[in-house]
Amino acid sequence: MKTAERRPARGPRSGEVRLEGQPVSPGVAIGHAAVAHEPVPPPVDTARRDCDPEHERTRLHEAIGRSAAQLRRLHERLALLPEDGQVEIGSLLEVYRRMLGPSRLRRGIEARLAQGMVAEAAVLQETEALATVMLAPPGRPAPEGEDAVAARRRAGEFREIGRRLVRNLSGTPYRSFSTLPDGAILVAEQLRPADAALIDPSRIAAVVTEEGGSTGHTAILLRALGIPAVLAAHGLLAQIGRRTRLVVDGTTGRVVIRPSTRTAAAAKVDVAAYARERQMLGRLRRLPARLSSGEVVTLQANLEIPAELPMIAQSGAAGIGLLRSEFLFMNAETLPDEDRQEAIYRPLIEAMAGDPVTIRVVDWGSEKNSDALSRMGIGDGSDVNPALGVRGIRLLLQHRGILETQFTAILRAATAGPVRVMLPMVSSAGEVRAVRDIYARIGRRLRRRGVDIPDPLPPLGIMIETPAAALMADVLAQEAEFLSIGTNDLTMYTLAADRAARDMTVLYDPLHPAVLRLVRMAADAGLRQRRPVSLCGEMASDPQAVPLLVGLGVRSFSMHASAVPRVKRAIRAVGMDDCRRMAARALEAADGQEVGAMLAAYADSLRQDDHG
Ligand code: PEP
Ligand code: MG
Repeated sequence: MKTAERRPARGPRSGEVRLEGQPVSPGVAIGHAAVAHEPVPPPVDTARRDCDPEHERTRLHEAIGRSAAQLRRLHERLALLPEDGQVEIGSLLEVYRRMLGPSRLRRGIEARLAQGMVAEAAVLQETEALATVMLAPPGRPAPEGEDAVAARRRAGEFREIGRRLVRNLSGTPYRSFSTLPDGAILVAEQLRPADAALIDPSRIAAVVTEEGGSTGHTAILLRALGIPAVLAAHGLLAQIGRRTRLVVDGTTGRVVIRPSTRTAAAAKVDVAAYARERQMLGRLRRLPARLSSGEVVTLQANLEIPAELPMIAQSGAAGIGLLRSEFLFMNAETLPDEDRQEAIYRPLIEAMAGDPVTIRVVDWGSEKNSDALSRMGIGDGSDVNPALGVRGIRLLLQHRGILETQFTAILRAATAGPVRVMLPMVSSAGEVRAVRDIYARIGRRLRRRGVDIPDPLPPLGIMIETPAAALMADVLAQEAEFLSIGTNDLTMYTLAADRAARDMTVLYDPLHPAVLRLVRMAADAGLRQRRPVSLCGEMASDPQAVPLLVGLGVRSFSMHASAVPRVKRAIRAVGMDDCRRMAARALEAADGQEVGAMLAAYADSLRQDDHG
């Protein structure tokens, strides 16, 4: 979407122009544009089939050597990045390094060279073919939701390593950002993750690009670096001249080109407000999550992919309350074995430096799906109603090998720090008992083999995600060492409203008193059986809902890392009496709207007290 005050026939317009792009890293910046063009490699003749395969193979190997050396240098530069950027780019460089090794990619390129192709064409065609398979796997439905995000990211990795090889084959240089003036807003057609790693966040005020998206590595890295950024601002470059002034709002995705005096003044106010907000959130990070009446609450983070780790470290979260291990199985060609899983869990546990990590065994089925599992005919979506079918722990009890491998890997990694193991989609005590037996047996087997594992075994707990589990929480709490309330599914199953369907958003309401009564039952059961209870559904990220949940008896929450500071601020602003009063009213309310209105009114009254 664009609006312009004046529109000359050609070239950059004059007057203020507004573009909307994808907001990928919050913050507002005002400054002059510095366009970083990328030198273009010469065109490639993809039709040629008369090259000498030996010669092209030698050229390819030299280009691989140069690419590997560049990646090594980039790796050495990591130490110069802020700590939070290091994990993201470090793991990406490792992916590239593996692709350059004896990989499927290399075999595919060499097969094309054998047909007489020029090396550049072989690289481009093979990387594109692999990217296409990722995005549209032959004979299978195109990935959706989180799978689609992971597939796009993986396709981007193939294309990126292809571009690097072609640059090195043709001797085309990379662009450099070191000559950009201090405080500049970096403008580019697109920015690759390896480019983003070269940006010095103390010198570049913001980043705007024509292409890109919010879920790629570049976006994750820019967030980790804390640089306000908007990607996919279509039509941007045509508007930019020499030293064009820009306002970039990485929170809303708005880019203003040649801002009017009034827009620039408003942007300066936003820049100052954002700086104050960051300062305040930064201070909060070190403060305890304590109610004004003195009770302490635990705030932890949910982890969906390892790239979120820096954000978790920055958020002030006291551990990982829900590690969704599905990422290990997404887009995998085969099931991840013990070694591969341990190699992922161990650094995550170490990175939390003594704070607990709750690993949930794979929750497959319903809206979550996996290539590796469906190829084996497991969780293939053949249930008439997948949400009510074989998912979560039901699926793992039917395919015990998957569960045993995951338990083994977790137990092996658990010497690195405190770990808890959690079971998804429990609906009866028999399931928990059956899993406990397997867990204990795996523990005994590892000890017999002399493998170092914690003694006693890490706590084994369950998610309360079904009404049955909430209603039977007192019984389940005798089998499980901790309970974690998953309000995303609990809401769906209680209200018979699909969590993923758009037209259900009115019916799907975690504030519905029916859901809150079940939360209360689970919290009470935990208290009576002396089992820790936490809550890890999306609701835990809502600063208005958390005081109410405290009133219902929940004392530990796990949420998206970015929500931790704001939830902490909400906790610190209320006392236990108010929390209990809200809970009592909510439990008696007629519906979710009434509860929502009550929470909004309470938040308003706090704001007025603040200003009064
Ligand atoms: C939940 O159901 O609330 C939950 C945290 O699990 P998931 O969202 O992964 O299903
Ligand atoms: Mg769930």
